[in-house]
Amino acid sequence: MLKTEYHKDLTRLNTFGMRVEAKAFIEYDSVADLVELDLEGYPRPVLHIGGGSNLLFTGDFKGTVLHSKIQFIEPLESDPLKISVGAGVVFDDFCKWTCDRQLWGLENLSGIPGEVGAAAVQNIGAYGVEVKDVISRVFCYDFQEEEFVSFGVEDCAYGYRDSIFKHPGTKGRHIVTHVVFQLNNNSVPRLDYGHLKDAVDAAAQGRELTPHLVRKTVLDIRNQKLPDPAKIGSAGSFFKNPIVSRVEYEKIASEYENIPHFDLGDAGMKIPAAWMIEQCGWKGRRQGGAAVWEKQPLVIVNHSGNAFPEEITGLERRIIESVKARFGVELSPEVEHI
Ligand SMILES: Cc1cc2nc3c(=O)[nH]c(=O)nc-3n(C[C@H](O)[C@H](O)[C@H](O)COP(=O)(O)OP(=O)(O)OC[C@H]3O[C@@H](n4cnc5c(N)ncnc54)[C@H](O)[C@@H]3O)c2cc1C
Repeated sequence: MLKTEYHKDLTRLNTFGMRVEAKAFIEYDSVADLVELDLEGYPRPVLHIGGGSNLLFTGDFKGTVLHSKIQFIEPLESDPLKISVGAGVVFDDFCKWTCDRQLWGLENLSGIPGEVGAAAVQNIGAYGVEVKDVISRVFCYDFQEEEFVSFGVEDCAYGYRDSIFKHPGTKGRHIVTHVVFQLNNNSVPRLDYGHLKDAVDAAAQGRELTPHLVRKTVLDIRNQKLPDPAKIGSAGSFFKNPIVSRVEYEKIASEYENIPHFDLGDAGMKIPAAWMIEQCGWKGRRQGGAAVWEKQPLVIVNHSGNAFPEEITGLERRIIESVKARFGVELSPEVEHI
């Protein structure tokens, strides 16, 4: 079924809680509806959203917002460890579904807000796992060619929070309809990130590891660090962790010898943006209705609950300027500005 609304209030459809509206909003719950959808006459541009958890609306949206309610979770008959999942399924519901069935692969990604379609677009990641590690194939409708296409994981050009679906030229062209994931029923925990192994071992108390145990540990860690979108608006990590050259890194390290970093070999050095932001004194600071989250400085929150988009972008700008002035590094946002 296709449902169209005009002047749709988007406040509850973006986790930042920006009080904005879309000129038109269309929700569909099947692939057949999507094919039938004729956007002739609808306001432009067209934006497909999921749960709105990586978006910052900087004002009312003058075009048409699309949203998928395609919701199914179906193991393939040919291989029950391959699970086909509709783009409109809440990603964490699917994580739980797999853990309930003792399937390994998604447990580290537990608790990430948003929907399955966007997860494949964003290449979401947490605790040493990216969703590309578990994706087998992404199925899309190509609005330009008006045909169905599918991409094997190797064709998706996956990178750090990046994919072919975000690249200039292809962005917005492919609507993800469903994704096939490859799960595993042998125990393959991925615990090599940070202190995850210690936390999981402490929770296990000698018991056998299960996907649920890892999931619960990950959820506990996330709950301690990140704002609950149901209570305080944010889009998670606001900035990407910058990758700098070795020369740039050495220059910063000569002044800050304890600088945390990940060596990416020829690609350079990744420096946690959260550390830089904290060094600049932003942790917990408020500016109007916006604030830097006190437990994780990578997150900007809608502190007052009714912050204006300009308050969020104003804080963003000041953070970028101060990190640049202090470290010579230009932060770039992970959150998509609309
Ligand atoms: C508290 C919090 C914690 C977070 N933690 C993490 C984390 O640990 N790791 C992480 O990677 N991310 C994290 N995020 C960011 C966010 O959850 C992810 O980016 C998520 O994948 C966004 O999903 P969404 O459904 O909300 O997509 P949206 O934000 O609505 O959209 C994201 C992008 O996907 C596109 N899109 C959406 N649906 C489709 C579709 N069906 N077809 C084609 N394009 C589509 C949109 O156009 C947009 O470009 C966090 C966010 C919050 C609020």
